[in-house]
Amino acid sequence: MRVLVVGSGGREHALAWAISASPLVDRLFCAPGNAGIAEEAECLAIGATDIKGVVQFCRNERIDFVVVGPEAPLVLGLVDALEAEGIPAFGPSAAAAAIEASKAFAKDLCVNAQIPTATHRRFRDPTAAKAYIASRGAPIVVKADGLAAGKGVVVADDLDSAYQAVDAALVERRFSAAGLEIVVEDFLAGEEASFFALVDGKDALPLASAQDYKRVGDGDTGPNTGGMGAYSPSPLVTSAVEGMVMDRIILPAIAAMQREGRVFKGVLYAGLMLTDAGPMLLEFNARFGDPECQVLMMRLMSDPLPALIAARDGVLKSVDLRWHADSVLCVVMAAHGYPGDPQRGSEIRGLDAAASDPKVKIFHAGTRRHGDRLLADGGRVLGVTALGGDIGLARDRAYAAVDRIDWPGGFCRHDIGRRAPRD
Ligand code: AMP
Repeated sequence: MRVLVVGSGGREHALAWAISASPLVDRLFCAPGNAGIAEEAECLAIGATDIKGVVQFCRNERIDFVVVGPEAPLVLGLVDALEAEGIPAFGPSAAAAAIEASKAFAKDLCVNAQIPTATHRRFRDPTAAKAYIASRGAPIVVKADGLAAGKGVVVADDLDSAYQAVDAALVERRFSAAGLEIVVEDFLAGEEASFFALVDGKDALPLASAQDYKRVGDGDTGPNTGGMGAYSPSPLVTSAVEGMVMDRIILPAIAAMQREGRVFKGVLYAGLMLTDAGPMLLEFNARFGDPECQVLMMRLMSDPLPALIAARDGVLKSVDLRWHADSVLCVVMAAHGYPGDPQRGSEIRGLDAAASDPKVKIFHAGTRRHGDRLLADGGRVLGVTALGGDIGLARDRAYAAVDRIDWPGGFCRHDIGRRAPRD
């Protein structure tokens, strides 16, 4: 098969790495890829959101299957455009990606499908939003409706911060079109976990759980990021919890999407709050998380490609995946400045020595080659990922590899896997 992976981050490196090992693959391409992905696939000068460019390449090169990593091309309709040309693609249609692209849509879906989630209301008018907030009391959560790169959610400890969040979105228009509408919802107390399932429109295959770290600083301090690390499995997601998540959240969501005429295929990623009343949904995403995908692909023993094809073909029932019993942990190394404006172009050395342990894989999230030098080229730059008998062993191995990387221009969190994110 001739396969194309779309995207350029650590998630796509992990997907390309796992897919490149498939005996089904003759040639693997990535649009646009990065310096690490170039070791697994032929990288193309086509951007992930260049819908026309990707479709044209697939037509010209007779691509048999496309795997779309990031949310942006999904929301722009890349899978629809490919399928319209008869090119099979893994990922939801634009209509189905609304489950991530609109929090208001996702919340209404939860209400209709009786999926456990925080009580919410939608607002476009700031005065009405503030009156509702006053009636509910703090803490309370204010969310911009659309995609805001993780920055659109404010967990307000007092009413004033909640009102400020309302004004930021609805008056100051800080999130432009993504914040024309907001969702105000009750605060949920508990532990967070992420849960991933492959979905084929009607059936779901649970993948694995993960714990991720969204804040930039040690001890969960500083602003939110796209993810500074992750490990899998999450000890919080026992098989009993997994059963509840499948029965109460994933399967009802798939059925509700079918009823809405927005048949969902791809990865359904549920951000969960594990409360005293059981798992409750914080948000849906329509794709893999970035560090989470790195740990999942490293834990996966089976060839992922037949499963991705089966999800697209609507025959997931016939698929079984095997996972390492071991844990995997990923430490993200980012360029100074991230998650603000990262410094680009600093040189990274020592990756070969760091990756010499066969239980370590360094995924690239934002790198490029300049001659034989490897340069940082993004906010999140590397995902140092390691397998171990338990989370502690995986962590020790990952940080030992981090210590061997010579990159003064980068930093990482030092507490990935040391304690649950909200401790
Ligand atoms: P979201 O993008 O909706 O997952 O929200 C981002 C983060 O905000 C989550 O990972 C939680 O830490 C926090 N959060 C979102 N909604 C709630 C809620 N209802 N109660 C408590 N924390 C929340």
